[in-house]
Amino acid sequence: MKKIGILGATGSIGTQAIEIIRKFKNLYTIEFLVSYSNYEKLFKLAEEFNIYKVGIIDESVNVKSRKFKVYKGYEILELIENIDLLLVSTTGTFSIFPTLRAIENNINIALANKEILVSFGKIVKERLKNSKSTIIPVDSEHSAIFQLINPYKNEVERIILTASGGPFLNFNIEEMEKVNVEMALNHPTWKMGKKITIDSATLFNKALEIIEAYYLFNTKNIDVVVHPQSIVHSFVQLKDGSLLAQLSFPDMKIPIAYALSYPERLENPSTISHPYDFSNLTFIKPDFEKFPSLKIAYFCLEKLSYYPTIMNASNEVAVYSFLEGKIKFRDIFYIVEKTIEVLEKEKLSDETLEDLLYVDRISRDISNSLVSGKERI
Ligand code: MG
Repeated sequence: MKKIGILGATGSIGTQAIEIIRKFKNLYTIEFLVSYSNYEKLFKLAEEFNIYKVGIIDESVNVKSRKFKVYKGYEILELIENIDLLLVSTTGTFSIFPTLRAIENNINIALANKEILVSFGKIVKERLKNSKSTIIPVDSEHSAIFQLINPYKNEVERIILTASGGPFLNFNIEEMEKVNVEMALNHPTWKMGKKITIDSATLFNKALEIIEAYYLFNTKNIDVVVHPQSIVHSFVQLKDGSLLAQLSFPDMKIPIAYALSYPERLENPSTISHPYDFSNLTFIKPDFEKFPSLKIAYFCLEKLSYYPTIMNASNEVAVYSFLEGKIKFRDIFYIVEKTIEVLEKEKLSDETLEDLLYVDRISRDISNSLVSGKERI
């Protein structure tokens, strides 16, 4: 029996992970469940799986329980012990703390939160050096690469991430100026949370994934190809020119199941696909003018240090501002570009976690004031 702890138990990835565990109850036991604030759903799940320990990240949630031991905020870190795998599917910077605790305690991590690696990749990599933990990516592209790359670690020439292109792939810049929230939330192939759906529309999702791939696979040789059908989840090119690909229906259950079962595989965790199911797979060069997010990502990949931290924090502020109707769709690019520009002139440090948390905070402050500037116009 694999002992599992789940952060983000009530979110999209957490819910799907629990569905898989329900199907394979003979293989997994859940030791604890943590959600951001949704305690009603959390308690229901805890009851179903007979779990005593639960956690709520948002300390302002006022809830007591006779049935469960409730850990709040940073108390959750006490839960990260005596398990085999921690699923991190919470969003936001808080997730870095349980992730580092898991690394400290030699616990494997199924990582669905890409911001941790983008913003704090440098620190995570340093801590991993003295630990037995392995990070198993849940992000579909990185799961694909992780599955493909293992036997060929020394023969990899290049990683090619696929991108669906989002709902505005065929829009011109003028049409993109008129995009509203509802249009941006309508993703053609994947059903996901709001933040990541907007990120898929701006291609900032891919921008974050470029940095994520760098920290996971140790190469800067990363390409992006637009593949609207979302069937090929990424490619690995070997030094002899061979292109390896991983294909399946766009269904997060497959990468989630693999992260849970690694290095084994589960039987039929989801719908099994056949090549007959896939027709007209197309691969197109991404348009960097329409999607400056990619340009920003390659700039940050070149610079590394705290630059990806700025990109992530600033993008998050911009996305929520767009969702709240404060800025226009293409302003998201402007906010991130401008925040980087402002901070390029500052002398910042990237030595410690605190340094990067400071960069994260100051980036958010600058982006927020840029949003206010846009609002006034
Ligand atoms: Mg992805």
